Amino acid sequence: MCRHLGYLGPAVSLAELLLEPDHSLLEQSWAPNDMRGGGTVNADGFGVGWYRTDGTVTGYRAAIPMWTDESFRQTAVDVRSGAAVASVRSATVGMPVAVGACAPFADDRWLFSHNGRVTGWPDSLAKPAARLEIVDLLTLPALTDSAVLWALLRQRLTEGTEPDLAVREMVDEVVAAAPDSRLNLLLTDGTRLIATTWWHSLWVRRGEGAVAVASEPFGPEAGWVQVPDRCLLVADTEHVQVTSLSEGKR
Ligand code: GLN
Repeated sequence: MCRHLGYLGPAVSLAELLLEPDHSLLEQSWAPNDMRGGGTVNADGFGVGWYRTDGTVTGYRAAIPMWTDESFRQTAVDVRSGAAVASVRSATVGMPVAVGACAPFADDRWLFSHNGRVTGWPDSLAKPAARLEIVDLLTLPALTDSAVLWALLRQRLTEGTEPDLAVREMVDEVVAAAPDSRLNLLLTDGTRLIATTWWHSLWVRRGEGAVAVASEPFGPEAGWVQVPDRCLLVADTEHVQVTSLSEGKR
């Protein structure tokens, strides 16, 4: 299962965030510690989205292993940001390897990533996806479970649902339609990180004006706390709140 991370805090270079730390996301692309539910390396692409100083979103994605992308290594040294989401991908069997399938998915001020898989894809998502407009489906960035999850979430965000509630509702709906799915989600608007644990690993570290969440800890070992399974995390640089997502569902 892919690995992802989110960061809010003082501006850092993408190289400092993703390439240089001990057990960096780069290292997690070829030597992850805690893959669950299939896959051994995260070689099917990668992506990073970040916020410019004016708050707008931009990014870099490629459907090749992170460790082979020399251009990204050079760019990452020069790009600095105080808010970013990044992922390395291990494509779920049956899903395409394509740049459009690499998280984070971006829209307006949002960045979204999914670590996991929806069981019974694609049939199991037919019912939840019925709430989408045809054009949402025709403009999916890739035919993957993660892209449909993003469309479902984005619809709620566009309707004005608070992001933490939108995430909760979407997890409920998908778990009802596709039990045993792995749904570790990560969403940010550049000021807050919203993340779920649903049958996969997530860690959080806060301090020195920064907060990071990650599938696997990176950088200094101190300060990382594991988020329990089936929880919703809402974090900014001052506070981390973790609440239960469900009682006894799966
Ligand atoms: N199922 C998603 C995909 O194929 C996410 C994969 C993962 O977490 N390994 O893109």
